[in-house]
Amino acid sequence: MGLPDAAGRPGCFDVDRQRIKLMKRNILARKERDSWRKQLSQAIRTPAELLELLDLTVKDEPANSRFPMLVPRAFASRMEPGNRQDPLLLQVLPDRDENRTAPGFSDDPVGDMASKAGRGILHKYQGRVLLIATGACAVNCRYCFRQAFPYSSEHAGRDQWQAAVEHIANDNSIEEVILSGGDPLMLPTRRLAQLTEMLSGIRHIRCLRIHSRLPIVLPDRITDSLLEWLQSVPWPTVLVLHANHANELDEDVAVAVDRLRKIGVHVLNQAVLLARVNDSVSRLAALMRRTFEIGALPYYLHLLDPVSGAQRFDTSEEHARQLMEGLRRQLSGYLVPRLVREVAGEPYKIPVL
Ligand SMILES: *Cc1c(COP(=O)(O)O)cnc(C)c1O
Ligand code: SF4
Repeated sequence: MGLPDAAGRPGCFDVDRQRIKLMKRNILARKERDSWRKQLSQAIRTPAELLELLDLTVKDEPANSRFPMLVPRAFASRMEPGNRQDPLLLQVLPDRDENRTAPGFSDDPVGDMASKAGRGILHKYQGRVLLIATGACAVNCRYCFRQAFPYSSEHAGRDQWQAAVEHIANDNSIEEVILSGGDPLMLPTRRLAQLTEMLSGIRHIRCLRIHSRLPIVLPDRITDSLLEWLQSVPWPTVLVLHANHANELDEDVAVAVDRLRKIGVHVLNQAVLLARVNDSVSRLAALMRRTFEIGALPYYLHLLDPVSGAQRFDTSEEHARQLMEGLRRQLSGYLVPRLVREVAGEPYKIPVL
């Protein structure tokens, strides 16, 4: 280590300081990166492990080979020990019912396959394209239509991004690019930055939207570098969270949302109406109030997509209507979500009134 020389030029000392600063920053960045990656690698993958953690007796749970169990510990920590009906537990615990077929339930309930505009890109609605940036998620939600989606062959990997970008560039009716999946925030931030860099030359794009459950199930994903990336993109940004119950939104999630809002990201939340998880006026109202409390606004409340294996979460449309009536009675208008159903072949998500 040296000192500045007599002429006052920066000597090795400063160079070293600079280098140490950089090194420290890199180490910090790596730690940050490792933290959520590491948490993901330590996620719970068997019913027995989760049930034991919650002081519940382990019955012989069926192994579900089609859709493995995956639960980050941050999410599990919000479950109530001893409660087999815990609304977070019910969302992630495999069930025998998943191996049964049921009338009206299928593997492509929303007609995604019909709206494919190329590998990894769904162009179903006017002005918006949905990019399946990755097939990976940090949590496997038992009600999800993804359990039957052939992701390994359908998501756009780095090599296919060029084709997706070209599709968007060649259609100037497209104003919004929606990053979805899987969960797009499963990609390393630098990969996300590469994608938006490729999109940044397209003049007709006006908005970037991200649908992610990571701020909920792994709030440490909202890293400094992720925020830096979001701040650097040239479009207004919307992030749609997916929380179905107020208990999912703990203080760590509130901090993550707050950080997103501070850099100007619009944060919304959508939920799925799920039997036993949130199908009462009081639970839904609590979710909407808590959504607001952490700085987000309710967006959609989806009726369940009838995907094979998810029939135990089904509720009737009549019940859904009654719940909405109850919400309208007690919530400010802006806290009432839009109840919708996804119908194959329709030009938008159909409002259920
Ligand atoms: C839900 C969805 C969208 C977005 O629809 P919004 O009503 O704008 O939220 C876009 N593309 C596809 C394929 C979708 O399923
Ligand atoms: S796509 Fe969303 S709802 Fe489906 S498993 Fe992944 S995080 Fe859960």
